[in-house]
Amino acid sequence: MDAHAGAVGTAWDEGTGTMHYVIDCPRCGGRIQHEVKPRWGDPGFLEEFGEEIRLVAFDLLLLHVEDAHDDAHQ
Ligand SMILES: [Zn+2]
Repeated sequence: MDAHAGAVGTAWDEGTGTMHYVIDCPRCGGRIQHEVKPRWGDPGFLEEFGEEIRLVAFDLLLLHVEDAHDDAHQ
């Protein structure tokens, strides 16, 4: 699979007080979100874990592609 992932980022949910990974699927345009560990809600999170965010979000995207776009690896 082409590793050219879309924009990976994080979104803060004020309602639940949790942060989420956010990545857009390049195949269907769907938005994939996954909750980050609660203790990662501090302001330094993005700088400290920026690379890890990208890696985890890309893993989520790969799982989504395998689940929702089964033809991706045929
Ligand atoms: Zn998709």
